[in-house]
Amino acid sequence: MSERDGLRIGVYVCHCGTNIAGTVDVRAVAESAAALPGVAVSRDYKYMCSDPGQDLIRQDIQKFGLNRIVVAACSPHLHEHTFRTATRTGGLNEFYFQMVNIREQDSWVHEHKGAATRKAIDLVRAAARRVARHRALEKSRTPIHPAVLVVGGGIAGIHAALTLANAGKHVYLVEREPSIGGHMAKFDKTFPTLDCAACILTPKMSAVKNHPNITLWTYSEVTAVEGYIGNYKATIARRPRYIDEDLCAGCLECIDACVFRQAKVPDEFNEDLSRRKPIYVPFPQAVPLVPVIDPEACIEFHSHKCKKTCVTACGERHAVNLRAEEKLERIDIGSIVLATGFRAYDARRSANYGYGVYPNVYTALEVERLINASGPTAGEVVLRDGRTPQTVGIVHCVGSRDENTNRWCSRVCCMYSLKLAHLVKERTGAEVFNFYIDMRTPGKGFEEFYQKLLSERVHFVRGRVAEVTDWALDSSEEGRLVIRVEDTLAGLFRRIPVDMVILSTGLEPQPDAGDVRRLFNISSSPEGFFLERHPKLAPVNTFTEGVLLAGCCQGPKDIPDTVAQAGAAAAEALALIDAGSVETDPNTAYVMEEACSGCKTCVPLCPYHAISFAQAARKAEINQALCKGCGTCVAACPSSSIGQNLFEDDEIFEESEGLLAYA
Ligand SMILES: Cc1cc2nc3c(=O)[nH]c(=O)nc-3n(C[C@H](O)[C@H](O)[C@H](O)COP(=O)(O)OP(=O)(O)OC[C@H]3O[C@@H](n4cnc5c(N)ncnc54)[C@H](O)[C@@H]3O)c2cc1C
Repeated sequence: MSERDGLRIGVYVCHCGTNIAGTVDVRAVAESAAALPGVAVSRDYKYMCSDPGQDLIRQDIQKFGLNRIVVAACSPHLHEHTFRTATRTGGLNEFYFQMVNIREQDSWVHEHKGAATRKAIDLVRAAARRVARHRALEKSRTPIHPAVLVVGGGIAGIHAALTLANAGKHVYLVEREPSIGGHMAKFDKTFPTLDCAACILTPKMSAVKNHPNITLWTYSEVTAVEGYIGNYKATIARRPRYIDEDLCAGCLECIDACVFRQAKVPDEFNEDLSRRKPIYVPFPQAVPLVPVIDPEACIEFHSHKCKKTCVTACGERHAVNLRAEEKLERIDIGSIVLATGFRAYDARRSANYGYGVYPNVYTALEVERLINASGPTAGEVVLRDGRTPQTVGIVHCVGSRDENTNRWCSRVCCMYSLKLAHLVKERTGAEVFNFYIDMRTPGKGFEEFYQKLLSERVHFVRGRVAEVTDWALDSSEEGRLVIRVEDTLAGLFRRIPVDMVILSTGLEPQPDAGDVRRLFNISSSPEGFFLERHPKLAPVNTFTEGVLLAGCCQGPKDIPDTVAQAGAAAAEALALIDAGSVETDPNTAYVMEEACSGCKTCVPLCPYHAISFAQAARKAEINQALCKGCGTCVAACPSSSIGQNLFEDDEIFEESEGLLAYA
């Protein structure tokens, strides 16, 4: 559209308080824009995103008969939607709008006011040229399937599933372990209230099991996902437990009957501190309370020479089925909540702390099990040789805040170290030392808990531990572990002999987080935790519409924050379902059929599997619901027969020329 054709552009330059105006002369930018061809009105305003700012746009559309809008403000990620809405409610097609980022791409990255202002003027000129080429586009509507898939049955997945199910929606909860519960099921008490973990978790676990709106598949994993928001299809592989869940009464007689009178397999749930049988339930409150046979350990699977006492013990129920095979379930869902949690840092990687070398060096998770009334020692804190420790050292930040391992703070370790210090002292009367870099207790009741520990005469030594060694300098250190540390408050190098060392290991992404990320087509941050769409404004959404995040898979957090996030993810899913359908932006690619030669170059390149080949017409076809507008196919098409809405060639050329033209 040219000036002659009645082009009337409104240009709005935002101050963003001093965020932009502190570095960019916004008035000069607005004045310069006023002189551009086709610009009917140009203004600057303190906060364009505020109600009065948006009203300016709406009123000017009417008052000046505007037919194109340019807003120079922050990132489109933040407010493109806001200004498109203002454009639409002012009476224009919302795609007659162009946003210019003069904050993240200008004022925040430049210091020189003159240069930053010149850059903003150039960017606005380019946008004014570009917006003239914009076409009126329409959003499309996609219906939402009302069922939700929740992946991961820790406290995050459990809470999200129950929230959705209680709201009347059907939930498929998929957990890869034989029981739901996640890490929380391993704890005896939780900070800072020291309330019993099982008492708050197990009722929720059984509510999941008994809920008519929840289909629970444990010992299962999602193996394929296809589709798009509102219309996902997932395949779930259910590994054989060899005990039929529908027939099993949970009497556990098959476990007693197993020919292995002595348990022989390291028990993963007890962090290998005890042994289990080849047929087992992970813990007494497991949900479902159905045993599982470990084919790696069961002799029947190796030699076929077992007397199959488990089969006999089950009797008429016939729940034991040693020939069971993997089953595939295929489901339709509208949205997905990922709640796959974390794994604890492997303390062997920090060799200076002697884990795996000295038997009396434990990880925090091991001590959680020792302290647990249903753990391997029935809650008694005893060393591997049966002694009760008299002196205990707790080393913070193992695999956290460390350039050599993980740079991030794991957020929960200070608090769980305080919890363990309290519980170990309570159970053993031992003298307890905490070795910390900084004490981080910012949650509700957390600082008070720290003060309580100080009053309990737990010792705190500020400094990163250099080494745990068994090398004794004198008789006081003989037969004990020695913690070598620089006490940065006292300004001393210290050697503190202890009987037991507890390593407060940090939280890491799950080892298969990369595979899960690819399966669900989402992004992750550099450290491997799943990436939220926006850290402040969309903390549970991902860049893939309809895929939501809950709990530690998004980053380390404690149980209250996990539950809050799971509730938020469930609320997002509910909002989608209750809307019935979702609007999708038209920033998608399309094939110009008359030009397409059917070469198929684009088909395998599409990262979203949105392109197929129509055999009859011998042309490429793009599924608009799957296309994310990444532009890969547009760039790759050898015959230039793929275009992309909002990124048309003429729009890009016009913008480039505007950028390079000197006013
Ligand atoms: C030693 C220690 C002590 C702690 N103590 C406390 C405390 O006292 N108070 C507190 O508030 N917080 C505490 N925390 C933090 C607490 O553990 C977490 O906040 C909480 O477990 C997070 O729950 P989640 O559901 O996100 O993850 P998780 O508990 O890790 O659960 C994730 C679940 O997803 C499953 N899963 C993983 N991948 C898949 C897959 N691909 N498919 C299907 N299922 C999958 C896992 O098997 C697991 O069941 C502690 C942490 C540690 C390490």
